[in-house]
Amino acid sequence: MIHLKNINKSYWIGKEEVPILHNINLSIEEGEYVSIMGPSGSGKSTIMNILGCLDTPTSGEYILDGNSVLSRKENELSKIRNEYIGFVFQNFNLLPRLTALDNVQLPLVYAKVNKKERKELAIDALTKVGLKDRVNFKPTQLSGGQKQRVAIARALINKPKFILADEPTGALDTASSEQVMNLFTELNKEGVTIVLITHEEEIAQYAKRSIFLRDGAIIKDERRELHAR
Ligand code: ATP
Ligand code: MG
Repeated sequence: MIHLKNINKSYWIGKEEVPILHNINLSIEEGEYVSIMGPSGSGKSTIMNILGCLDTPTSGEYILDGNSVLSRKENELSKIRNEYIGFVFQNFNLLPRLTALDNVQLPLVYAKVNKKERKELAIDALTKVGLKDRVNFKPTQLSGGQKQRVAIARALINKPKFILADEPTGALDTASSEQVMNLFTELNKEGVTIVLITHEEEIAQYAKRSIFLRDGAIIKDERRELHAR
């Protein structure tokens, strides 16, 4: 489903071109659960931004479901993002003035889904993440783990083919991290492809495959037989 071919990425810092990613080749099939690990600054978020069609590499190819994405215009990329990808971030990225329900509905507002259907779908998604009784709460009235579960419900609302999660447990305590990771495991069992970025070994253990980056290159790619938990 996802094929990165010979991806290189550099940033211009002043007049200097600084290489960040070096010749990344990575294929992820539908239904996989992959963690991307590596020290701070190794290029994890840079890869995630490329996978999420939020940034383009300096050279190389990105083929998604047989189609090259790099030559697409911004409106087409935004369509790909909406149809294919659910994003989950360390800091939840919820809108503070909106209730859980309205946060989760937001992508459907952009997709022009009618009000009644939007509400039903959002309630279903919140029920799925165990927050049926919190639909009318605002982010400040929710715990960190609950906020992240709202963000996951929002990521799921367009039925994405894959979820990109960048340090989803980075701001959570152990118990909330566990809940969030169990939710990802459940979603993966239902067939959702998950790409999880983390620098915590314990969190990476939930994935069936771990990719290790160092200094912008893949240094290891290993599979686990079973879920560790
Ligand atoms: P962390 O674990 O701290 O989140 P990371 O592995 O996600 O780290 P990246 O954010 O991908 O690391 O950054 C990789 C390198 O690219 C870093 O050296 C960073 O300084 C550099 N970098 C990232 N974004 C930019 C940018 N917009 N302009 C210039 N350099 C950048
Ligand atoms: Mg990062």
